[in-house]
Parts: sequence; structure tokens; C-alpha cells
Amino acid sequence: MNNNLREKMSYIKGLAEGLGLQKEDTKEAKILTNIIELLDDVVDALEVLENSQAEQDDYLDALDEDLSELQNEIYGEDEDDDETNYVEVTCPHCHETVYFDEQMFEEEDDIICPNCKQPIYEEGEEDSEEEGGE
Ligand SMILES: [Zn+2]
Repeated sequence: MNNNLREKMSYIKGLAEGLGLQKEDTKEAKILTNIIELLDDVVDALEVLENSQAEQDDYLDALDEDLSELQNEIYGEDEDDDETNYVEVTCPHCHETVYFDEQMFEEEDDIICPNCKQPIYEEGEEDSEEEGGE
């Protein structure tokens, strides 16, 4: 769009030069020369504006992308419920390989083996050692 303006501007400037407008010492020539200079400046200013607009558009696009990612991370969690991670544990009592929901594994102190109904980690074994700051 702006390229078109540029072309027209160049054409008019070429015409004025070809006619020797700047060298002519009439009031009309002076006004025309000034108008042409002004138009040239306007086209320059428009180009700068258009470039910064394009930059802002790029920035907004990037921001929008980041936001979508963030939204997926925050709100997507509930939908991903079937993607629960399971922890595989071999029961020390019955030596059966059992699986626990990772979340349950982190939250509960007593993990009961579903096979022999005995706690997987007995008290005192590695009880309070791994309790962090949360
Ligand atoms: Zn067991």
C-alpha cells in the first residue's frame, strides 16, 4: 500500500525535477516545490508508522501465543485428568507390583498395598526424612 505512495511520490518528484521547478523563480513554483517536499515527508512518516505498526502486530502475536500456552498450562490441567501418572511400586510384604496415582502417592502418608492391605512404607523406615517444605 505504502509502496504505491512511494512510487507516486517518486514520479511527482521526477516530474518536478524534469521541469526544473526548483530553479524557476515564480511564486507558483515555490509553492509547488514546498508541497512536494511536504508530501515526501508525509510519505516518510507514514512508512515509519507502518513499520512500527507491523512490529507491534508481531509483538501482539507473540504475546497472544504465550498467553494461550499459559492458559493451557493453567486451565488444561483438569482436562488432562486421564493423563495421571502412575507410580510403580513393589510391595515389600507380598512382593506384588502395584500402581499408585502419583498425586495420592505424594499426599498420603500411608500407602496401603491393595494386594495384602499392609502399608507399603512402614513407620520409622523412611518416614520424615523426605518431608520437604510444602
Ligand atoms: Zn503387598
